[in-house]
Amino acid sequence: MREIYPAFYKKFKCIANRCEDSCCKDWDIDIDSKTERFYQTVQGALGDKIRRKLADDEYNERVFKVENGRCPFWNQDMLCDIFIGIGEEHLSETCGSFPRVAIEYGDIREHILSFACPEAARLMLREEQPYADFGIQELDGAEEDDEVLGFLLKARTRSAQMLLNHEQPFAYRLADCLEFNAQVQAVLDGEEPSPLNFDDAEQSGCGFVFELHKGFEIMSPAWKQALADTAEQSDALAISEGFDRDFEQFALYYLYRYYLEAVRSGDVLYCLRRIVCAYLVTGKMDADFAPRAIPIRACACCSATPRR
Ligand code: SF4
Repeated sequence: MREIYPAFYKKFKCIANRCEDSCCKDWDIDIDSKTERFYQTVQGALGDKIRRKLADDEYNERVFKVENGRCPFWNQDMLCDIFIGIGEEHLSETCGSFPRVAIEYGDIREHILSFACPEAARLMLREEQPYADFGIQELDGAEEDDEVLGFLLKARTRSAQMLLNHEQPFAYRLADCLEFNAQVQAVLDGEEPSPLNFDDAEQSGCGFVFELHKGFEIMSPAWKQALADTAEQSDALAISEGFDRDFEQFALYYLYRYYLEAVRSGDVLYCLRRIVCAYLVTGKMDADFAPRAIPIRACACCSATPRR
């Protein structure tokens, strides 16, 4: 297995109670079976509380259920009582690994951080060339092992080059990348590549993208309200150049995190559609809300965070 790490990966360190948007709130915490077995042996008041709080969720998975929007072990100092009481090594897999994500394709395992963590997002936004180590050179040989994977690795590299073409405004780069990947999709489908036909588009404006997002599971009421407020005037809002600069990094993150899912799904356009939707929704929200500087948590569906 070839392990690929971006340069920023090992710089990450959770900032715990200095985090402006903790991962210890708003969702149930998954407890894997190995961790649960250990928790059944913990003595004292902490062990008793752990066993009291272990529950089944609606999928019959073991969890600590969120209470008043907080993990029951996230204390008033915004620190974890389990970490303090029995050590970091006894956090569940979910707590111990977040925001680290590992994705496997054939004999390649790529490691990345999730943009849902603000400290990880800061690292990725600051990095000059965050995904340089994901280059095709390191993955030589994939083509021989797996024809589709080799093809998609090259297409991903080409897509990244398009997103980084600073001779064009970002929206144009995104359009070029979408067009290119429509051709990639045709090849995957065994069809003759042909130009995208925008004349057939049934929708105009981006209101339908906001309507789509309103139907997603959104954990933060502030995000839900912000989405509704921006949706009302979305077509009149212009995405700023400053947002484009930040979004370039987010689009690359998306590309490196999701593009190769097409190895299994056969759907390369899914990743591109998500980037376009995230660009429209967060870019318009940024235009609407940045001047008012209200705190908004990361979007639950696309993990993007409007600038504060
Ligand atoms: S969101 Fe990131 S920085 Fe914040 S508490 Fe979680 S892992 Fe730590």
